[in-house]
Amino acid sequence: MLNIVLFGPPGAGKGTQSRKIIDKYSLVHISTGDLFRKHTSENSALGQLAKRYMDSGDLVPDDVVISMVEDKIRENLNLNGFIFDGFPRTVNQADALDSMLAKHDLSISGVIALEVPKEELKSRIKARAKTSGRADDQADGEINNRIAVYNNKTAPVAEYYKKQDKFTAVNGVGSVHSIFAFITEKIASF
Ligand code: ADP
Repeated sequence: MLNIVLFGPPGAGKGTQSRKIIDKYSLVHISTGDLFRKHTSENSALGQLAKRYMDSGDLVPDDVVISMVEDKIRENLNLNGFIFDGFPRTVNQADALDSMLAKHDLSISGVIALEVPKEELKSRIKARAKTSGRADDQADGEINNRIAVYNNKTAPVAEYYKKQDKFTAVNGVGSVHSIFAFITEKIASF
């Protein structure tokens, strides 16, 4: 199985590139942000809980995210592999992901980080706000909080995977097509 973590700050293009990766490699997409938005739109208990954190740009508590991902892994074990998008977002989540996969004799094949400067992230999120309908895309306060949360809690996840020699970065500025070409080169080396 090919199990990839697509890593990077909010607005880096993880969703866009994930869709292309899924098409090419037939992987199961596990986007924790999309899963939470689905729960929120259905107004489930999990959705109501997640919304309180998401709207202000804070992280949903680890135990909630981890059990949701564990269910998705269990439901899709007989396929080609997974692409994790927006997960893990803390070192604790990364540790939990390794343990969950190990239970099924699986592991992460590699991590690809999309690197995009902060000012570019902000302008992309603001452009997306016009069509996304996402509360967390609309105002500077929430956007800045998401970037700060990324720097404080999520950036250390890169170190976690560097220690395992699984981390690789690509320039996330350029055309969707050219960035995807860099990603496929990286995947070929896993
Ligand atoms: P983006 O990467 O554009 O910020 P996502 O769609 O990945 O957006 O996530 C939106 C929100 O969902 C996050 O700001 C956070 O509140 C919540 N969320 C998503 N994934 C996680 C996660 N792995 N851990 C905690 N919270 C998460």
